Amino acid sequence: MTVHDPEIGGGTLYVVATPIGHLGDISARAIEVLKQVDRIAAEDTRHSGRLLQHYAIQTPMLALHEHNERQAAPALIEQLRAGQSIALISDAGTPLISDPGFNLVKLARQAGVRVVPIPGPSALVCALSAAGLATDRFVFEGFLPAKATARHNRLAQLARESRTLVFYESSHRIVDCLADMVEAFGASRRAVLARELTKQFETIHQDELGALQRWVEADSNQQKGEIVVLVEGWSQPDDNVLDAEAERVLQILMEELPVRTAAKLAARLTGLNKRDLYERGVALKNNE
Ligand code: SAM
Repeated sequence: MTVHDPEIGGGTLYVVATPIGHLGDISARAIEVLKQVDRIAAEDTRHSGRLLQHYAIQTPMLALHEHNERQAAPALIEQLRAGQSIALISDAGTPLISDPGFNLVKLARQAGVRVVPIPGPSALVCALSAAGLATDRFVFEGFLPAKATARHNRLAQLARESRTLVFYESSHRIVDCLADMVEAFGASRRAVLARELTKQFETIHQDELGALQRWVEADSNQQKGEIVVLVEGWSQPDDNVLDAEAERVLQILMEELPVRTAAKLAARLTGLNKRDLYERGVALKNNE
């Protein structure tokens, strides 16, 4: 390898972020590294071929994806130990972020191989930076489980998470996903749909979860492409947050039904959070 940049050296694994849509979103350093390394390990060589062609990068590629990573990683570690340099890229954004590469990076570090990150885009940070939700503390949940029961359980566990929640979602599940979020977090929780970031049809739309769900359901264009969903963190409701009307509904239902069922129905009628209504119901009952 010809070393033009004293920082770019052999025996090193470079973890290189690539664009999430707009081809211009790649750093000069990333291009330089991709040009100079001995090999590029790419999630999909055909897909990355277009990026490399655009930047006239002629470095040979090899495929490293979720199906061959475990088997292929040890041989790559040997090449790195022998002084070769390898750049790891994924189809889009930062490798390892809901993308392959974890096994290779873990093995490289265990083997004492130098691992150098070349930072750049990630849909998670890109979405957060423009969503208008709190960014001082957030949790990245990646993809929710595909199966409905597992998804409900995961969302239920997150109902009281006070940090901003960030999810990756596939276009064909977005409607179900938003419906499940309304159920778990309540229709009035604020959320953002960040779709096709950096691309022609980029959309960043903030609303209450219930309204967001209806908007996406009514417009099939909003169900297309690549999507990040961000949800405002839970905040402790003070007694005033359950407005008088919601409390009236809850009380009427509690005259005929157990608190849990009354809270569930009141949540559907008012759009407020089921758990908050349940807690209010228990408090009302205790004060009787
Ligand atoms: N490694 C990537 C990163 O750093 O963001 C993520 C790869 S993951 C397999 C793909 C998911 O990321 C998509 O399903 C979507 O949720 C999100 N994503 C990727 N590109 C996006 C974009 N341009 N706009 C919105 N979401 C995007």
